[in-house]
Amino acid sequence: MLIALFMFMSLFTLSVKAADPGPVIIVIDPGHGGDNLGAEWNNVIEKDMTLFVAKCMRHELEKYDNVEVYLTRENDINLELNERADIAKKYNADILISLHFNMSENHDGTGAEMWAPMDSILNARSSYFGNIELSLLENIGIQPKGIFTRESELTSGEYYGILRYSTNHKIPSIILEHCYLDSPENEKYYATDRDLNVLGRLDATAVAMAYRLKSDELGRDYTDFKYKKGDELSLPLDILTSDNTAPNYVEVKIYEDKDDDSLVNINFYAYDTQSGIDYYSYSLDGGETFYPANYLYGCPSGRFTLPKSVLTGTNLVVRATNFYNLSTDSDVFDMNTELYGIQKAPEEFEDPEDLINEIPLYVLNEEMNPYDVPANGKYAFVLILGLITGISTALVLFVANKYRYNPGT
Ligand SMILES: [Zn+2]
Repeated sequence: MLIALFMFMSLFTLSVKAADPGPVIIVIDPGHGGDNLGAEWNNVIEKDMTLFVAKCMRHELEKYDNVEVYLTRENDINLELNERADIAKKYNADILISLHFNMSENHDGTGAEMWAPMDSILNARSSYFGNIELSLLENIGIQPKGIFTRESELTSGEYYGILRYSTNHKIPSIILEHCYLDSPENEKYYATDRDLNVLGRLDATAVAMAYRLKSDELGRDYTDFKYKKGDELSLPLDILTSDNTAPNYVEVKIYEDKDDDSLVNINFYAYDTQSGIDYYSYSLDGGETFYPANYLYGCPSGRFTLPKSVLTGTNLVVRATNFYNLSTDSDVFDMNTELYGIQKAPEEFEDPEDLINEIPLYVLNEEMNPYDVPANGKYAFVLILGLITGISTALVLFVANKYRYNPGT
């Protein structure tokens, strides 16, 4: 039924797409990943920063209408440059934006620079976005170095792989080097998660301006936006204003797991009107001690799962912390009374505002969950079953051997 509905919706989308240009499709590429760390400076690693900024950028961009946003990677994985361009091709991207942080050999570089394709049509499209981005970065104090092209001496094609493969797919692409990690002047733009969040939201705003998007939620309308190179652009204030208030509230709903009644899902929605939620943690002793943080990257909702046996008798509190390190706790849930009469989660949450729609996967961090379901019980059962099977097989073979009919003797 669901599949049929999905197919019907896809058909509908396709037929609509023929008539109007359809949504703007943005593919964000968090540079590096896996064994490829990118630049390393003091205690920061480029591959982690680009992923964080990419998720903040997507979160902001998804508040606009008529835009689809994809990331080439969601996790810390190895990904070849051609694979990144192939992902942009798969989604038929309007642009592939590859996020990076720079470093210079003599540690004397500073400011923002970009690399765009040599192909004149692709270059024009990429540079339109790039110039807006540079202007916004300049607005927060990062010196705009410019947008450059680079030809390979060997092949006379694109020097940078990501631009080369995207050009082969005829997709505009750009390498966005926000600032220099080894520049003392630039450090204040990337030093904290809050700074990276500002960069991600700035990147999203540059896309919104370049592709003339509109967001009721943010109260911004760039549908008539026009940019000429050299125009000074200002960033919306809410991206820059500091947040000196804790998240407004943390709402929690507790449900028995749909498939396994020994498990309990704790769903929460934390709201922060200003900077957004950076991470959550939970306590089982009424808020005295908390388990390690799980990052939400600005996403307001999350879910985690604990065995009923672990929750029973505890006092559960969920804490949400915003990008300014200010926290708000949920009510305390007495897990003797709350567990009594606990319900299974409804098949679909009727009102998405009510609570937690489906939770993004990256919110769940199994490694950090100290209460993974113990598998020992299951293994013991399999082991005993195996032993019984083995012994009875041996017995049957032994008996069969002893009494078998042997005409030779
Ligand atoms: Zn890089």
